[in-house]
Amino acid sequence: MNIAILSRNPNLYSTRRLKEAAEARGHSIKIIDVLKCYMNINMQSPSIHSKGEDLPGFDAVIPRIGASVTFYGTAVLRQFEMMGTYPLNESVAISRSRDKLRSMQLLSRKGIGLPVTGFASKPSDIPDLIDMVGGPPLVIKILEGTQGIGVVLAETRKAAQSVIEAFMGVRSNIMVQEYIKEAGGADIRCFVIGNKVVAAMKRQAPAGEFRSNLHRGGTASLVKLQPSERATAVRAARTMGLNVAGVDILRSNHGPVVMEVNSSPGLRGIEEYAQKDVATLIIKYLEENAQAHKTRTRGRG
Ligand code: ADP
Repeated sequence: MNIAILSRNPNLYSTRRLKEAAEARGHSIKIIDVLKCYMNINMQSPSIHSKGEDLPGFDAVIPRIGASVTFYGTAVLRQFEMMGTYPLNESVAISRSRDKLRSMQLLSRKGIGLPVTGFASKPSDIPDLIDMVGGPPLVIKILEGTQGIGVVLAETRKAAQSVIEAFMGVRSNIMVQEYIKEAGGADIRCFVIGNKVVAAMKRQAPAGEFRSNLHRGGTASLVKLQPSERATAVRAARTMGLNVAGVDILRSNHGPVVMEVNSSPGLRGIEEYAQKDVATLIIKYLEENAQAHKTRTRGRG
């Protein structure tokens, strides 16, 4: 197959591994920086250009679109979809997963376990919002945050009120969540491909920290998943419409709860700690599923 990887940096671990795995299985790979693409939007023959070159047709495209380029990146991916290229994850599903509130609403509609979550825009609604999610301690999150930045634990009502007010004061969109204390500063990353969790790892926050992000000094280890955790992860990915996803789960007193569904999950940590060749599993998924013009949405809404 001719496969395109949308990635801004060919040296990133995930990009390198996907290229290696695809080439080892006889495919040809082109790494494309979405910001260097420009497009011709027309019904008869949509096309994508980069550095003066009209890009050839591809059988499949692997989007690795960073959070900071979601808007332009999904537009480029949509153009590939219009040209009939099979996307590993569809542009619509990626856009959904990048919006934390929208994701939570979609997941809750399907009855998937979530931390009790609330959001509001007016400071006068804060006291009621705090009560609605069960009172302190609470987790407050900036919607645009990634890698644990903008995730705050407020242990008292006063602290919660001031943090929420501060975020609202600088016009940040936030959500307020029940604190899952019993998770003990650990979460579980489930790597989903198709209808299966192919690898999982537990991430544990360092002492004195509740955020388990590896970027925040968390440490990872192997974990054995419960069947209910596997089922939750697969259903969460399905609900978002993602073929490949990193589903982050907390172990709560009321069963597994989903915190986030990531549409470009990194391969480094999971390949290392779960000892699995996830890159090859992704390429095999494409071999089995890629077909021209086979998307659920073809870029619609
Ligand atoms: P980001 O997308 O920035 O990584 P997350 O929502 O995943 O933000 O939160 C970062 C970390 O904080 C999680 O990995 C988890 O360890 C911890 N965390 C987030 N929300 C909660 C919660 N409601 N209860 C307990 N811990 C949480």
